[in-house]
Amino acid sequence: MKKTKIIATYGPAIASASKVSELVTAGVNLFRVNCSHGTTLDFVKAADTIKSAVRKAQFPVGLLLDISGPKLRLERFEGKLPVKAGQRLKLTAGRTDLDKKVLAVNHPAIISSVRKGQKVYIDDGNLVFDVVGSGRGWVTLRAVNAGTIMSGKGINLPRTDIKIPTISDKDKEDIKTAIRVKADYIALSFVRSPADVVEARRIIESFGGDQKIIAKLEKRESVANLEKIIKESDGVMIARGDLGVEVPFAELPRLQKDIIRLANYQHKPVIVATQMLESMRFSPRATRAEVNDVATAVFDLTDAVMLSAETATGKYPVEAVKTMEQIITATESRMDRTDVPYEHHEVRSDITHSIAHAVSSYEHEKLVKVIFAFTTSGFTASLISNLMPPQPIIALTPNERVRSRLTLLRSVYPVTIDQPRSFDDMLATVEKVSERYRLTRSGEKAIITGGVPFGSTVPTNFMMIHEIGKKRRNVRRSKRK
Ligand code: PGA
Ligand code: MN
Repeated sequence: MKKTKIIATYGPAIASASKVSELVTAGVNLFRVNCSHGTTLDFVKAADTIKSAVRKAQFPVGLLLDISGPKLRLERFEGKLPVKAGQRLKLTAGRTDLDKKVLAVNHPAIISSVRKGQKVYIDDGNLVFDVVGSGRGWVTLRAVNAGTIMSGKGINLPRTDIKIPTISDKDKEDIKTAIRVKADYIALSFVRSPADVVEARRIIESFGGDQKIIAKLEKRESVANLEKIIKESDGVMIARGDLGVEVPFAELPRLQKDIIRLANYQHKPVIVATQMLESMRFSPRATRAEVNDVATAVFDLTDAVMLSAETATGKYPVEAVKTMEQIITATESRMDRTDVPYEHHEVRSDITHSIAHAVSSYEHEKLVKVIFAFTTSGFTASLISNLMPPQPIIALTPNERVRSRLTLLRSVYPVTIDQPRSFDDMLATVEKVSERYRLTRSGEKAIITGGVPFGSTVPTNFMMIHEIGKKRRNVRRSKRK
């Protein structure tokens, strides 16, 4: 069982229950529906297709709705616009007119904020322009490089602070949709401050939702407010597409390591996203550099790696997932305790932290095959996950919502159970789950951790090492007497 999770972005390339199932079999743990493309109806349909397809999966598969936020982008148009280096075109607050090389933008503030001499980046920086002129409601750009502009592509203005709200009316509609389809996570794009996350949470709660919030780190401001944003969120995404335009891209590798370390320290899940296997949009084989990139994220101790266009619109979605799965498995199998630096862990002196530390110790590496963690809120599972034990963690919870959410956490495989009422009940549950999911063989040892008395909401306060099959032998023997 791999530790690092795989997120696949849903899209036309996998838009059927059978394709979704195929991806799950290949190793996907969560699906992302990107609200930047499509209508409410599309998102509901996507969620339905995903939910119906994953119902029969061995372990639960999570659902994440990605809210566009204050994304600056071109308005949609039919066709595409090829540009040559040196060529001029106009951005307008009005309407697109491809013949006249006039492109409309989604926020008029873009036009009023940019100044002559600045740079405008389109499509994750694939096309770079100089601002060479401006007037009321328009600016003139000159292309620095050649390329093709496609409909609805993103715009980045790294040096410009634009005053637009983080959560638009469309975002609010999409948040409602996320709640309606019972998404596990809502990802919030272009977070700039912790207040953005607080605001999102207030909106989610006002609509009656309980979705966890993933802050997408893709703005210069978010890097400056890193620790506070992580603290306010339930998890973060290193959104390298936009981030690599907003900050010099050579800073990404260091930033990735720092963000993962800070997120792990605060026991918040972290996702490494964008261009992980970019070439696989068009090719069945990854480049060696991409193989290294996925492995690096695993070595950096991320919770999850994400595929975007590779699965949404690429030619080889299944192959991309299989490739990721292979890289993760091969990398993790060669990792040992020296790959898990001690400073990744927050040491707090309370009972739950002490138990979680004991559970996660590499001392049991040879002895223990699997960890069973009884968890009501998911907190213990997330704690143990972040202490990076060598074994897989089977999180046993009576709560369906907690269960699907845990799909994102490194090493954690959630299973729904009936709340045990006694010690024997607990052992029987472990035995049953172990057998059903073929996790251990008789005689192998497992760690069990949870809180007693059973059924109460006490925090985790015990761990034991259990020999699988032992209890039943004892029972049989005592019956014979
Ligand atoms: P996006 O976010 O795919 O929604 O743009 C990810 C990124 O910017 O890397
Ligand atoms: Mn982005």
